Amino acid sequence: MRQPDSLRVDQRAEAGPYLSVSNLVVKFPSEDGIVNAVEGVNFSVTRGKTLAIVGESGSGKSVTALAIMGLVNRKSAKVTGEVWLDGEELVEKPDSGIRKLRGNKMAMIFQDPMSSLHPFYRVGAQLSEAARTHRKISKKAAREEAIEMLSRVGIPAPRRRVDDYPHQLSGGMRQRVMIAMALINSPALLIADEPTTALDVTVQAQIIDLIGQLQSEFNTAVVIITHDLGIVADIADEVAVMYAGRIVEHASTERLYASPEMPYTLGLLASIPRMDRETNRLDPIRGNPPSPLRHPDGCVFHPRCKYTDRVPNRACFEVRPELLESERNHLVRCHIPAEERRRIATSVLGAGTGGGAAIATAGAGGTGPAAPVGGPA
Ligand code: ADP
Ligand code: MG
Repeated sequence: MRQPDSLRVDQRAEAGPYLSVSNLVVKFPSEDGIVNAVEGVNFSVTRGKTLAIVGESGSGKSVTALAIMGLVNRKSAKVTGEVWLDGEELVEKPDSGIRKLRGNKMAMIFQDPMSSLHPFYRVGAQLSEAARTHRKISKKAAREEAIEMLSRVGIPAPRRRVDDYPHQLSGGMRQRVMIAMALINSPALLIADEPTTALDVTVQAQIIDLIGQLQSEFNTAVVIITHDLGIVADIADEVAVMYAGRIVEHASTERLYASPEMPYTLGLLASIPRMDRETNRLDPIRGNPPSPLRHPDGCVFHPRCKYTDRVPNRACFEVRPELLESERNHLVRCHIPAEERRRIATSVLGAGTGGGAAIATAGAGGTGPAAPVGGPA
């Protein structure tokens, strides 16, 4: 069989990424102008790994997820770029083709469980239906699977609960049912969009743990979306920070927490309370994200950045920075020279945060795209 190009060979390789997003752009035309929701996003996720996408509200996280799942209405939005899932390109795929994959090879859990649970049907019926949409199994077998799934997501007395209506369950339990629904066909890709935001802190931790457990059981590629860098440290392998529709920093979780570089990331990190750090607690990032109708020239973050004076020739105000490798597998979109970024990180977050790691690596790589590989996989 002839392969049209080498990219496709890569995408189909067993060990390659299961999901690969390349230059994804989503625009919504509106009466006030074009809403630039996603402005050229690139990332990939391998089975068994977790990528966290983090950023303030409005940064384009949900639209990115919805575009991958084929849930952005293509009549009202313009979606370009490529989304490769297990060797198939989805942006160009007709809706009927995507429906076959959604709930099967890829599934999504939302902040609000009621957006995927129907209020008038028993949870068991909804779970069985999800299984029977994609697989030829009997109603009885599907019901048994539903009970099994409820038990796996930690619903007590699943044989009784299977006949409950969603409103009979607590918020945390409904979230678990939604996870059960997303996982009933063992999707290889799970996207969780702020799955715990509506829940209290203890339940949040349980749900995050649960996603981690189910991931290792099913070898799922997970994309977890959150505005809170504090909750993903334990489960994410990599973190991509989004701002105004763009990824502004992307690194392994370890590296991102130890040696963040982009001033926006510093702001997010400084607002997490941490016991192990003697911080000069940062004031939250000043100002607000820009209107998606009109992103500022230069660096989209410049109106809120305190460090534009570190860059000559007003570049922050006039030149769009690229997402470049600062170190191997550490991508940063910022004009400030890397050495200076690391000094700023240390002064903002305190010694022991940026400090040690930055000093250890500064001599090894220096600035610019030095490493041969194309960023975090
Ligand atoms: P996040 O999930 O990071 O909070 P979103 O991805 O939901 O942000 O939204 C990104 C931007 O796109 C926001 O400015 C939002 O108002 C806009 N947006 C999202 N969906 C639509 C839509 N269907 N039509 C027009 N604008 C939209
Ligand atoms: Mg969102």
